[in-house]
Amino acid sequence: MTAGEPSRAVGRFAPSTTGPPHPGTLLAALLSWLDARSSGARLVVRLEDLDPDRCRPEFAEALRDALTWLGLDWDEFQHQSQAREAHERALDQLAEAGLLYPCSCSRARLRELGVRTPDGGFRYDGHCRARSLPAGSWRDCDESLRVRLPEGEIEPNDLGGRSLVQDPAAAFGDPVVRRRDGAVAYHLASVVDDAEVGVTRVVRGHDLAAGTATQMRLQQMLGLPTPSYRHHLLLLERRDRKLAKFHGAVGLDELKPRYDARALCGWLAAAAGLLEAPTATTPGSLLDSFDWSSVGIDDRLVEWNGLTLMSSPVTS
Ligand code: GLU
Ligand code: ZN
Repeated sequence: MTAGEPSRAVGRFAPSTTGPPHPGTLLAALLSWLDARSSGARLVVRLEDLDPDRCRPEFAEALRDALTWLGLDWDEFQHQSQAREAHERALDQLAEAGLLYPCSCSRARLRELGVRTPDGGFRYDGHCRARSLPAGSWRDCDESLRVRLPEGEIEPNDLGGRSLVQDPAAAFGDPVVRRRDGAVAYHLASVVDDAEVGVTRVVRGHDLAAGTATQMRLQQMLGLPTPSYRHHLLLLERRDRKLAKFHGAVGLDELKPRYDARALCGWLAAAAGLLEAPTATTPGSLLDSFDWSSVGIDDRLVEWNGLTLMSSPVTS
């Protein structure tokens, strides 16, 4: 790139490899893909595979196969676990700035304090803020590591018009950036990896919207640029008599005997509001008329009766 030339837009799809692919993953993939391809952006697929308790290589492989099966492509394909060096550099940077500290507070303690976060978790009260790292390095610490966030509101830009304004220190408290088991935590890994490939547009489910201000704060602290965001509708399922983000109700393996790729693509497009009815199509055909203004705002409830996948508006 020569000086003065605008750099190219970059989008990404960053699924966690914590389970087999299902319609919820594929809807998120399709929307990220349509956003990138319709805006001339490069698309990076990044498998988020850092959680040793929940991520499995066979889920990663199945995800990649599912994207190809649906008819999606990408310009770069990454495994987050291979970016360890960049993550460690970021931790070094935060440690050198005196911003990291060890914390062994239990979840139970935070639950007892009972201050809710915007995503339904429990706020961290800064109990260990005054503690310092072991003399050698953060690497010698076998507790979780948190980062001291400065106070103050920030407002990431959501292209869908969702308000992301928040004081992350007040709403969540200092985030864990490296877990006790050594795994780099989601917010830090996500902002570092987005910056490494020059992501300029983040498209993801609105369950992640509440954490965006924390991510923007980390970007500021690390001197990284902040992309634009867009948070889309979710597919929901009934779980324990409540509505939850679609997860395990039906996987792609179970759907495939009933839905080929074109049929499922049409079903996803209809659930998202891009088609009036689920008629067979391909991502490429949807691209011609893709516009975010046609994508529904409200979540959809998904039901599977063993033969047909149905989606309906969520009524409270
Ligand atoms: N890996 C996260 C998830 O699957 C998404 C991360 C992101 O898009 O920022 O929920
Ligand atoms: Zn603590």
